Amino acid sequence: DPRISKISSAIRVIPNFPKPGIMFQDITTLLLDTKAFRDTIDLFVERYRGKDISVVAGIEARGFIFGPPIALAIGAKFVPMRKPNKLPGEVISEEYSLEYGTDKMEMHVGAVQAGERALVIDDLIATGGTLCAAIRLLERVGVHVVECACVIELPELKGRDRLGDKPLFVLVSST
Ligand code: 5GP
Repeated sequence: DPRISKISSAIRVIPNFPKPGIMFQDITTLLLDTKAFRDTIDLFVERYRGKDISVVAGIEARGFIFGPPIALAIGAKFVPMRKPNKLPGEVISEEYSLEYGTDKMEMHVGAVQAGERALVIDDLIATGGTLCAAIRLLERVGVHVVECACVIELPELKGRDRLGDKPLFVLVSST
């Protein structure tokens, strides 16, 4: 798809952020390019429209940028998957491991119903730990996660393997 190369070039890479040795993929420059940003959303909408998806679950923070326009376009609700102690209502939470230590992801109780079909969206998959936690959280309450979607995949980190059988759709692979 000719749109992909424009999307890829609109993503800025910032070396040594947030720490030495990390090549940070910065999607804020993609948001400044109105054509590339629209194409990004359109590519996801083209894939997920008509797939009977009622939930778009977006992962904090950059899943909150890409998730809502996709949800509106396919007629699904948007559910934020948040860092701990941010959501005001009753939550269900799932721990996951980081390079050092653990983190938690939370979702409001009652936001989704058993039997619903969900898409999980984030900006980027690295090790896959974050997406796995989101999948576990949704599946614990009986939601079927149809697919995970990201703008960028870092294939060297093999996050896709960690997702097992769960399909992953990405627009850009970054080496
Ligand atoms: P994982 O759990 O797959 O190792 O890490 C993915 C999470 O870390 C995502 O929520 C993603 O937003 C964030 N992340 C890690 N590295 C980068 C990066 O280079 N750029 C951006 N935008 N996010 C990153």
